Amino acid sequence: MVLGLLLARGGVRVTVLEKHSDFLRDFRGDTVHASTLTLLDELGLGERFAAMPHRDVERMTVRLDAGEAAVADFRRLPGAHRHIAFAPQWDLLDLLATAAAEESTFTLINDAEVIDVLREHGTVVGVRYRDRATGAERDLRAALTVACDGRSSAVRAAAGLAPRRFGVPMDVLWFRLPRERTDPDGVFGRLSAGRFAITIDRGDYWQCASVIPKGTDAALRAAGIDGFRRDIAALLPWTADRLAPLTSLDDVKLLEVELNRLRRWYVDGLLLIGDAAHAMSPVGGVGINLAVADAVAAARIVGPALRSDGGVPLRLLRRVQLRRWLPTVLIQGVQRVIHRALLAPALAAAPGPRLGAARLPAPLRLLRRFPALQGLTARMVAIGPLPEHAPAWARRPAVRSRTGR
Ligand SMILES: Cc1cc2nc3c(=O)[nH]c(=O)nc-3n(C[C@H](O)[C@H](O)[C@H](O)COP(=O)(O)OP(=O)(O)OC[C@H]3O[C@@H](n4cnc5c(N)ncnc54)[C@H](O)[C@@H]3O)c2cc1C
Repeated sequence: MVLGLLLARGGVRVTVLEKHSDFLRDFRGDTVHASTLTLLDELGLGERFAAMPHRDVERMTVRLDAGEAAVADFRRLPGAHRHIAFAPQWDLLDLLATAAAEESTFTLINDAEVIDVLREHGTVVGVRYRDRATGAERDLRAALTVACDGRSSAVRAAAGLAPRRFGVPMDVLWFRLPRERTDPDGVFGRLSAGRFAITIDRGDYWQCASVIPKGTDAALRAAGIDGFRRDIAALLPWTADRLAPLTSLDDVKLLEVELNRLRRWYVDGLLLIGDAAHAMSPVGGVGINLAVADAVAAARIVGPALRSDGGVPLRLLRRVQLRRWLPTVLIQGVQRVIHRALLAPALAAAPGPRLGAARLPAPLRLLRRFPALQGLTARMVAIGPLPEHAPAWARRPAVRSRTGR
């Protein structure tokens, strides 16, 4: 959507195909980092975003058995946005889609599931998609096809590309609990031996993520809803009196975590970005912002060729990958270290109130001792190693929210 918006603002004819009929799904993650907030300002959409329901978070903390530990302090960031925002992703996508629809060269087709790529003489020249409303199959030809269809990219598979996979120790269970007006605001992480949970405040309910050892979902489901409720109450005692609405494990969705990366993000006529090129772990909540940064870099690099109605030579596609390779490898590297050093041992430990009971783990002690380091972690999470900025031709002055808020 970001790439579509930017290119359409440059006068390029763009069609975005989206498999679903809307963006209203729970599983996408909620974080909008300082780098993306700055991008929205550059696009003139900062005020519209500010008018959307969201929460600004200035610090990231995690609660262990030994106490609470600060992980990142966003107040130490440079620039106008010294926080990260939590906003339901469907609202952000709606905002981008509305802005893109203001461009005459932009088309969004919903219920359009890409099922194959079209090739001519070895070059990708578009896609075949199924209209899920009617079942009809249609072809769409394009000077450049961009796969941004996520972790299970159908375009990637159709192009015959397979990512290198890195093991991950966990999967995530996703569910909602009621929120009361007297509850604290914000986002909380809770780590204990054998268990890890995050609760995200979404106004009238808590969106909760329970991290489980990879591949244990079936056993957990076999144990039934009572066992699951007991686990959650043990980890998050304040939720004990509000677990009743969870009447069945059908209310608890499994999100399988993947961490992988393609060696090559392009072939003739096709570029892959976001999770389709490099699936991100939820650690740090950086995947959305990395996908957005890929889109901005791609627009800046291939936009001029598309704007002049020319084809997009392979060297430009290679340049997109070269530009985004280092931040991706660095962030995935940090995620892998956190998986290995913190999450895998914690999830492998038998449940019980012991994790860090005596002392916080060494990296957290270091962050506590030298608070300036919390500014570095904040920068890594909220801005990232190579923030991307909108090209001049896609920028607009600030536009007020349509609701007038
Ligand atoms: C449990 C979990 C929690 C996470 N939490 C966060 C978080 O809080 N913050 C964060 O930044 N990152 C988070 N991430 C990572 C983040 O979700 C991804 O890195 C990010 O969504 C990637 O964006 P994307 O646009 O590449 O792909 P996606 O967000 O997956 O978007 C792909 C889009 O393509 C559409 N699509 C799929 N197949 C087709 C098809 N065949 N035809 C047409 N359309 C198709 C989908 O409907 C979807 O709209 C989390 C990941 C996991 C697993």
